[in-house]
Amino acid sequence: MTEKRVRNLLQCYLDDHRVQWRKKLAGDGSGWPEDPPPCPCSLCNKARAVIGESLAGGVKARGIGLVGSSPARRPEEKEVLIMEKPERDKKCLSYWLPLIEAAGLPVPRTVIVETDVELVALLDGESPIGLEGFLICLRAAGDQLGWPAFLRTGHTSGKHEWKRTCYVPSGDKLGRHVYALVEFSNCVNEPLGLPTNVWCMRELLPTKPVFTAPAYGDMPICREFRVFVDGDKVRCLHPYWPHEVLMRGFPLLRADSFEARHDLPCDFDLPDDFEEKYAALCDLRDDEETIRSLASQAGAALGGAWSVDLLDTDRGWYVTDAAEADRSFHWERCAAKATV
Ligand SMILES: [Zn+2]
Ligand SMILES: [Zn+2]
Repeated sequence: MTEKRVRNLLQCYLDDHRVQWRKKLAGDGSGWPEDPPPCPCSLCNKARAVIGESLAGGVKARGIGLVGSSPARRPEEKEVLIMEKPERDKKCLSYWLPLIEAAGLPVPRTVIVETDVELVALLDGESPIGLEGFLICLRAAGDQLGWPAFLRTGHTSGKHEWKRTCYVPSGDKLGRHVYALVEFSNCVNEPLGLPTNVWCMRELLPTKPVFTAPAYGDMPICREFRVFVDGDKVRCLHPYWPHEVLMRGFPLLRADSFEARHDLPCDFDLPDDFEEKYAALCDLRDDEETIRSLASQAGAALGGAWSVDLLDTDRGWYVTDAAEADRSFHWERCAAKATV
């Protein structure tokens, strides 16, 4: 009930902002367009300017704005401030992405928005101070990158719930995805949850999905590899998807069975060609050298032991994610695992 109320609230804000803008257009005699041009209010303008400059400057990873509720230095800077303090939390995208991007490696265009808005209040059905500016900034980022866009926090994308969390089809759906990620972040990693002060709007890379996983919110499953590196040395390389994890992306064959109800091994309703496609998904083909080289360069940029995720796209291989090696999922049977 609370959840529904907050979702409505967020939706309300987004709709309201748009309605106000449409009313103004109608008032100007310029009609009532179905798809109105971007809102020219000072807040939206400022958000776009900050994000546009950072993207146009080629600084893909460092479009950092602080959007928040803290007392403003100057009134006009109240909602959008550029912030360039270096991130010290290695678990946060805002730490590792700028390093990888600066090394010239292919990464998705990303706008990082930092906020001190008390987003956790959303879960209590409240609308925290500064929410409006924060959403405008994120939305402006998506407008610049194009919809659908990929939304995550510095720490997680909740991607196993794909269409509820990280996959944002359009700007007017943004509020509910922010809510879902705040909820997800506060439910995982108990009892502390994950921070929600850094947000990342990313271009959705063009891929050729091998599967769509219904139990993972229709997540497209693409050729992807995880490489463990230590500096520029490649330690080992794995397909991103272990067989048993991918299987769980499909519905249970008999959801009401004893096994299913007690979390015991049970059968999944897999596509007929699952094994064949799974083999294709894990096939390095002629790409092993490229993958190792990109991972090695990323490792050199990061320094130390990391895992680096690489995704096959229509534009070639992209570095999409990185994590400290000892915090990253690692295939159980890997011989190198013990030494990472
Ligand atoms: Zn506006
Ligand atoms: Zn390994």
